[in-house]
Amino acid sequence: MSASPAELVRRWVREDIRESAAYPVAEAEGFVKLDAMENPYEWPPDLKSRWLENLRQIEVNRYPHPSPAALKDRLRTVLGLPDHVQVILGNGSDELIHIIALMLAGEDRVMLAPGPTFAMYRITARTVGLRYAEVPLNTDDFSLPPEAMLEAVEKHQPALVFLAYPNNPTGNLFDDKVMCDIIERTPGLVVVDEAYAPFARMSFASELGKYPNLVVMRTVSKLGLAGLRLGLVAGPEAWLAEMDKVRLPYNVNALTQASVAFALEHFDVFTSQTEAIARDRSEMLTRLRALNSVKVWPSAANFLLCQFPKGRGPAIYEALKERKILVKNLQGAHPALADCLRVTIGKSEENNAFLEALAAIL
Ligand SMILES: *Cc1c(COP(=O)(O)O)cnc(C)c1O
Repeated sequence: MSASPAELVRRWVREDIRESAAYPVAEAEGFVKLDAMENPYEWPPDLKSRWLENLRQIEVNRYPHPSPAALKDRLRTVLGLPDHVQVILGNGSDELIHIIALMLAGEDRVMLAPGPTFAMYRITARTVGLRYAEVPLNTDDFSLPPEAMLEAVEKHQPALVFLAYPNNPTGNLFDDKVMCDIIERTPGLVVVDEAYAPFARMSFASELGKYPNLVVMRTVSKLGLAGLRLGLVAGPEAWLAEMDKVRLPYNVNALTQASVAFALEHFDVFTSQTEAIARDRSEMLTRLRALNSVKVWPSAANFLLCQFPKGRGPAIYEALKERKILVKNLQGAHPALADCLRVTIGKSEENNAFLEALAAIL
């Protein structure tokens, strides 16, 4: 055996994986971090002490509970999901996207989504071997084009459809009637991804049970617990039982289970934080629109999508970075996102720093 690792990789690793790039995460040390839709607020000190005290009871020598019923019940109640729906937990909703795609993957099967949307759908489709089909959103307001969507459903007969509600990175809520039409016409499973539910006050949770092919996905990440990695899918038992077979047995670790359970006992803290973020979003929208060389779309999430004059987006991104402000550069991510940057709503002082830096750059 004298082959080098690189030669072995070339021989054995799937070509589509070798030719793809890993999900890029920017180095953020020392930056005002407005790139990843995190809740910027820390926990009050007394809450933090009680949480740490709570963690003392965990026996990390033991495996975590494989399917923590009390935590699921609590999540269902606090997140406003109907009592009758089943819940499956994942290591972030990213893992659940993976589980669902794996469960449905097969020769010539299609995952369909409108675009631009959350990048992980396409990445996951590639990893598991699903064909990915995208329907372009309307370019003016990123709304769903009803005819094009239904035609794509008819043509591809998708095994899986993802609808992010609100959508990332565009921030808008799609028309719920159009979504219902899509759900009705889709032969396979439709996942309504409500990662930004804490900022949206709109949800498809009330539709669960009305359609045999609808599940709703949530996460605690954007609420304020991104570091814990916990997401969930709510929906009919028949679907969730199959997802459970693909899920790895101990996918949600003991520290996460205990920490989320503790955080949910103090849900009011997170509610007031997300309300503050939603208020700051309106203020930021107004102030950004006052800078007249920026186009900003309205948002039901904790970020705003901004577009700059033709050709200037990447340079503005770099200039912000030089001033130690990190946002998400969407240039190249999708044809509809040329010269677009996505900025997460941070603390007031962070938002001010961003706006001042941007005004100076422009
Ligand atoms: C951030 C995001 C997720 C990922 O959430 P995690 O639970 O942190 O994995 C899922 N869907 C959308 C649309 C997102 O923007």
